[in-house]
Amino acid sequence: MVTTILDCYTDEPAGLGVPPYLGTYPRYLAGYLKKPEYITIDDLRFLKYYKLNEKKKEINHKTNIKIYNLTKNIKRINQIIEKTNTLFVILGIHTPGKYLSAIPGTLKEVSNLIKDMRCEKILVGPAFFGTQLEGGKLFEKNNLKIFNKIKHFEFTYQEIAEYAIEGAKIVKQIPDLRIIEIETGKGCPRREGCSFCTEPIKNKLEFRKKEDIINEIKRLYNLGCRNFRLGKQSDLYAHPEVIELLSEIRKSCPEIEVLHIDNVNPKSVLSKRGHEITKAIVKYCTPGNVAAFGIESFDPVVYKENNLNCTAEEAYKAIKIINKYGAKRGENGMPSFLPGINILFGLKGESKETHKKNMYWLKKILKSNLLLRRINIRQVTIFKGTPLYRKCKNKFIKKNKKHYWKWRDEIRKEIDLKMLKRLVPKGTILNSVKAEIYDGNTTFARQIGTYPLIIGIKKRIPLKKYYSITIKEHMLRSVIGEIKRENKI
Ligand code: SF4
Repeated sequence: MVTTILDCYTDEPAGLGVPPYLGTYPRYLAGYLKKPEYITIDDLRFLKYYKLNEKKKEINHKTNIKIYNLTKNIKRINQIIEKTNTLFVILGIHTPGKYLSAIPGTLKEVSNLIKDMRCEKILVGPAFFGTQLEGGKLFEKNNLKIFNKIKHFEFTYQEIAEYAIEGAKIVKQIPDLRIIEIETGKGCPRREGCSFCTEPIKNKLEFRKKEDIINEIKRLYNLGCRNFRLGKQSDLYAHPEVIELLSEIRKSCPEIEVLHIDNVNPKSVLSKRGHEITKAIVKYCTPGNVAAFGIESFDPVVYKENNLNCTAEEAYKAIKIINKYGAKRGENGMPSFLPGINILFGLKGESKETHKKNMYWLKKILKSNLLLRRINIRQVTIFKGTPLYRKCKNKFIKKNKKHYWKWRDEIRKEIDLKMLKRLVPKGTILNSVKAEIYDGNTTFARQIGTYPLIIGIKKRIPLKKYYSITIKEHMLRSVIGEIKRENKI
């Protein structure tokens, strides 16, 4: 009996599993299934679309990111497919983004790719609740008949303590570097969640034991992993032992190269422990770190209508605190720890006033000499079961869509560009920058970590190597750089 995991990648409000990230779903599932085969959607595309033709790894002078993330199993792909009795398809995008070197699978695509496989097919992952690769749309409605089952694995944290250790070994099947997404908790600490969010529907609030998290990281470290993100949680600051957790990770894994975090509720930064936790993050994590603040809107009407997690004033105070401790530049050339902001279009109550309020507060942040690592602007994806779906679905997206390009453009030009110039002024040197893809004669590169800055280098340099780069010019959200030297890593 051969069981195979097909990883089509996942992206949720709390948790990322799109390469270069390796999500928790395939690791836990591999632990549960004991000895599965592990393949990615890139493997399957390489076989089905391109008949394993190496020349297709670049198309029209661009790296073909549809097949960038092959596993070592690509050599045996035909054999694996033939022998598979049960196929677990991990899929689900709830917070679609732009991915530099991967394209997650959609239900439509994967259904086509697996339709002639003669085996039991089980759909798992966030897609259980729906999936959508494009923002501003309802979840993808596809015929699910191709699957024999759609399953939501609700592993307890006791089970995960075992499965995470057992399943860690799938990293051996992945030839490229991965940032390992680590789970510290699930559910939302707020009694009622934000209107658009699927996390409170999916999970009750629970934190993972510190010892279990450390054991998992140690196991992955012993398997050779050096890059980690504590990203699978809705608010890292809410973990009761977060300071001890960070210090013990560093003690037990001294040669860790990247230790970053993800989601933080700005309100938690303002709490009693907020300053201490922020200092600990600066001390124990590595530079270039970002607290992703799901602010979503600075408009008090939208805040109220959607039960968002903090007011504009609270967000501003939290941004100040993170800057106070984290703005100093670290050894990789980036500030140690900065806030990142998420803005969401299409929420209930959104109007022209919303954009004015967003601009007012963003300009205030800029004028106060504060740093933001990045502003993510998305259109909301609407999922069944959320208050937003029940109350108004895509009514506000339809109403305001005509403004979105202008609103976004204004934020990019008036805030992002100025912020970027402050963040990495011309002449700044960024170290450990990995060359990832080609687009014509340009190479795109970035550091390993959470929300790394994308750097365009105006020539083709060997991919998957590391460089020190001097910043030469600023675009709206990315920079242009020149090689200073190659790093020996
Ligand atoms: S704070 Fe809002 S966005 Fe974050 S997990 Fe809770 S409900 Fe979701």
